[in-house]
Amino acid sequence: MITSMEALDPLYTTHVRCSCCETPFTTARMRSSFKKATHMDSDFCSYYNNDNNPDYYVVRVCPYCGFASTENSASSLTEGQKSSYLAKLGLNWKPRDYDGQRTLSQAMECYKLALLCAQSVGEKERIIAGLLQHIAWLYRYMGAYEQEKRFLRFALDAYIRVYEVEGSSINNAKLMYLIGELHRRVNEPYEAVKWFSRVIHNKKITDSAMIHRSREQWQVLREEMLASQMELPEAMQ
Ligand SMILES: [Zn+2]
Repeated sequence: MITSMEALDPLYTTHVRCSCCETPFTTARMRSSFKKATHMDSDFCSYYNNDNNPDYYVVRVCPYCGFASTENSASSLTEGQKSSYLAKLGLNWKPRDYDGQRTLSQAMECYKLALLCAQSVGEKERIIAGLLQHIAWLYRYMGAYEQEKRFLRFALDAYIRVYEVEGSSINNAKLMYLIGELHRRVNEPYEAVKWFSRVIHNKKITDSAMIHRSREQWQVLREEMLASQMELPEAMQ
């Protein structure tokens, strides 16, 4: 009986070691059986039943020193990074515990902490871009459109920097699609067209799912531009 009750709890506890102060602490994660999204937006923002959103639990916040990170963050920090975090943020940390269930606004606090921490230690641009994008999605759940758009713009700029470093040397079709889609969402249709076209026409790209998505959003964009009587770029005529 107890076992079946436990199976109904979407959350479980994991143990992690803080990458900054190295103290072990616990944090909740969502069971994979609850991770099924009911639907997903064209920029991969996902929706779940009953607030069972696994994204709320991605950030782990150390209750002792306040350092917040994700599974993809650097697993250990250099002495220089630690002192940079402490000087910029850690010394002002008031002990708080984000273990257990999180509300949307607590998830937002955790993501914003993770963003500040990542910036304070000079974390990889891809990690920072992902955090910015998640913050935009949380604002979308809240219906805060202006804030959502502000963070989509920050995420877009960060993803462009990722692309400038990684380029097309590795299979970056998803990144290119995403840059196109974020341009579309911040009302930069001409830039969006360029990125979708790159995914569609670059012969080296073999990611059929991203080619398909780029075609779809290219079409959506074309209709939006026609509806607002914008001049279509040559590629779209
Ligand atoms: Zn810590």
